Parts: sequence; structure tokens; C-alpha cells
Amino acid sequence: MILQIKDLNINYEVKNGYVSAVQNVNIDLSENETLGLVGESGCGKSTLGKSLLKILPKNAKILGEINFKGKNIADYNEKEMRKIRGKHISMIFQDPMTSLNPIMKVKDLFLETIKAHYPEIPEDEALEMSGKILSDVGIDPIRMNEYSFQFSGGMRQRVMIALSLVLKPEIVIADEPTTSLDVIVQAQIMEVLKKLKDEHKMSMILITHDLGVVAELADRIGVMYAGHLVELSTAEKIYYEPKHPYTQALLKSIPNTNIDDRELRYIPGDLPNLVKPPKGCRFASRCPYAKDICHKEVPPEFEVDGTRVKCWLYKDEKVRV
Ligand code: ATP
Ligand code: SF4
Ligand code: MG
Repeated sequence: MILQIKDLNINYEVKNGYVSAVQNVNIDLSENETLGLVGESGCGKSTLGKSLLKILPKNAKILGEINFKGKNIADYNEKEMRKIRGKHISMIFQDPMTSLNPIMKVKDLFLETIKAHYPEIPEDEALEMSGKILSDVGIDPIRMNEYSFQFSGGMRQRVMIALSLVLKPEIVIADEPTTSLDVIVQAQIMEVLKKLKDEHKMSMILITHDLGVVAELADRIGVMYAGHLVELSTAEKIYYEPKHPYTQALLKSIPNTNIDDRELRYIPGDLPNLVKPPKGCRFASRCPYAKDICHKEVPPEFEVDGTRVKCWLYKDEKVRV
């Protein structure tokens, strides 16, 4: 196991208290595994992803353990984290427009990244490494001499992927890596990611609100709702035997691509206020199966056919310890 997230809680301090953005989350990630993380906007996906690199804003407080190769990096200071970022765990962000410095040549973006971790690597060798990874993502290395603003959105995202993989990290976190791109480019970028992930034998956490995208790429899928990990299982089981009422609703809300039936189904209701989260299950106000206990007590995680599910409907099953 390369990563073990244990009892992770993340709170953002705000004027009137704190936002409980992630609560009691436990996830293990194996070598070479792709874990999809899904859930609607505001449910804590990016907060969880960024916590693994400790790049959260200052008002965020992390509690719990993030064990990377057996060491709890939740306790690491900024200097120690700098040695981890990019080299061991890296992140691909949603919008390459804002995350790539437009006034630097692409080759300088690479040289800067490589030098930060390996100052001893001579420039020609660093450029060779950069050229190789650029061609892996489908960019002619000759374009290294251009600035990223000269690239299209899809090409910029390829540069971003190449940059985050050039140091061959063990884990890459991709946070909505294709949301800002058109559908055809999205598919191409996903193809590139999948190919490189397999070649480099990396583990990947793929964050998205699109269940369709992860179903194709992920080995397992974690479903988040209002800061809780409500279901975790293999991609197949999530798709064909969803257990949590929220997962079931999410699957139904995938837009129907049939031309004659363009009605976009949605889940009625809103996310609860995370400054004053409900006492019991955070999905209770929207759940068609909610009972008394759901409003009173947070459900523990039950284990049903190898699926972890945080819902009182399964109270007769084994509780996960
Ligand atoms: P999206 O799909 O829109 O990217 P997400 O699942 O990534 O959503 P997060 O961005 O992790 O969700 O946000 C989780 C919760 O934390 C939300 O309620 C959000 O408003 C809150 N939040 C995020 N950043 C801050 C911050 N800096 N200060 C206070 N609250 C924050
Ligand atoms: Fe619905 Fe209750 Fe399960 Fe929550 S615990 S998802 S309210 S049945
Ligand atoms: Mg996000």
C-alpha cells in the first residue's frame, strides 16, 4: 500500500465557526491503482486532494493521518513537503490557463521543476527528460521553445500533465483534469493519462463529478457527499450495484445522451450547511429512505459484499472497524 488516509478531518476556519469539509475519511491506495473520487460540487473532493500535498489555504486545519509509504506526512512541515511535491506526489489541476506561468517558455517550466528537486542534473539531460515526456503526451519537443500562451487549451493541459509526471511521482492527483476542455479533447487527454499511468506504474487519484469518466479509468471509486465518504468499492460494483442512496441518485443524474430524451435528471435539494452540519446522516434531508435514526446519528461504515457504505439501511451488516 502506497498511501493510507486515516481518520482524516479537514476544517476551514470561517467567521461564524468552521466548515467541516472532510470528516472521518479513511482510504487506502495501492501501487498502480486508480481511485476515482466523485461527488457533486462542494462535497470536499478538492479539499481532500490538496490535503495530500498540503497546499490548502491557511484557514484549513488537517487532523488525522496521511501515511505515504509508511510515513505520516500530515505532520510534515513546509520544507519537508517541498521534497514530496512533484517528486513523489504531484497534482494536475483543472485549469492549465492559471496554473502554468504564461510568461515562461515551456522548457523553462520544466527546467525549474527538475532543478528544484535535482539540482545536480545538467541542463542538457534535463531537457532530454522534458522532451521525452512531452512526446509521450503527444507534443513535439521542438515546441519547448514556445510560451504556454501560444498553446491551445488541450495542448496546455498536455504540458501540465507532462510537467506533473516528469519526475516520475509515485502518486498523481488529477483534479477535474479535463473540465475546461471540449468533449473530444477531454477524451484525448484521458487517453494520454491512462497510457502514462500504466507505463509509469503510478497510482492515481482521479477527482471528477462525472461518474462516466471514472467508470472507464478507475479501479475503485469513492463517493463523497458533504465531506463524508459515503461509499467505496470497485468501479463495477459502484456502477452496477450502487448501495448508498446518494450513489444511486448520482447514477440516475448522468445526463441522458439520447437525442429524444434530453431531460437532465437531478437530485432535488441542496448540500447541507457545512458550518452547522446535520447531526445524523448528511444526506438525510434529500434521502427518500430517511428514518428517525438517520436524523439523529451519523451512520458508521458497514461492509456489504466488499463495498463500504455509510448508511443506516445496512445496519444489520458488519460494521467496519
Ligand atoms: P467542486 O466540484 O466544485 O470542485 P469540491 O468537491 O472540490 O467541489 P471543495 O472545493 O473541496 O469541494 O469544498 C468543500 C467545502 O469546503 C465547500 O463547502 C466549500 O465551500 C468549502 N471551502 C473550500 N475552500 C474554502 C476556504 N478556503 N474557506 C472556507 N471554506 C472553504
Ligand atoms: Fe438515507 Fe438514512 Fe442512509 Fe442517510 S443513513 S443515506 S438518510 S437511509
Ligand atoms: Mg474541486
